[in-house]
Amino acid sequence: MPDAATEPRGPRLVLLGKQGAGKGTQAVRLEEHYRIFRLSTGDLFRDAAAAGTELGREAKGYIDRGFLVPDDIVIGLVREQLAIDDRAQHGFVLDGFPRTRQQAAELDKILDGCPLDLAVDLDVPTEVVLQRIAGRRVCSNCGANYHVDNPPEHNWTCDVCGHEVVQREDDTPEAVMRRLELYEMKTLPVIQHYRRAGILAHVDASDETEEVFKRLVELVDSYFDAGSRAL
Ligand code: ADP
Ligand code: ZN
Repeated sequence: MPDAATEPRGPRLVLLGKQGAGKGTQAVRLEEHYRIFRLSTGDLFRDAAAAGTELGREAKGYIDRGFLVPDDIVIGLVREQLAIDDRAQHGFVLDGFPRTRQQAAELDKILDGCPLDLAVDLDVPTEVVLQRIAGRRVCSNCGANYHVDNPPEHNWTCDVCGHEVVQREDDTPEAVMRRLELYEMKTLPVIQHYRRAGILAHVDASDETEEVFKRLVELVDSYFDAGSRAL
């Protein structure tokens, strides 16, 4: 398998999938593997909320109730983030964006001239994501993911940065159900958008992290090896 670092540029990817499909975890792995820029809108909002900025306070009101943050706020934020220091120039992976048809259309405009390579839908049955989310725990500082079945080494302090590992406030059963309903309503049209654009790929994400990551890398590498947009 060719080393992606020797490619002229890294991939430009969007990860799609229900809450708990593993987008966040796989995005971090892809960032490291391909040395590309990772943008997670959920992490950005949580950081802004922790820092107490106006954006953060506004977003938290929606997030804690399980609602989507309004499109204009999210789109403005993403546009700003992608523009900083050409950081996305060598490739990127977007986690949690776009999540509505309008966000997908705006992203196409933002990326004008350097379109996405692949939009990957991480497929997982709803029963599985409900179990994953119930046990999900995250680092309150760096966002590293854990699970009650896969805790950090020492007493719920993060293996990466040593801060406290907690349950997310929006991982309550009510908020999770609302997010899954919103996913069906708002995000399925995004999948359609990329299917029509001919860049949609599916990866079975019901297996463990390592296996899913291998499938993702195989998919992305085969896309680049083929040197074409044919999937
Ligand atoms: P999840 O995928 O489990 O919902 P995320 O960490 O990706 O978790 O996002 C947390 C919350 O942040 C979402 O429920 C939503 O309220 C908000 N959010 C993140 N990304 C977007 C987006 N692209 N559009 C609207 N809201 C968003
Ligand atoms: Zn941490």
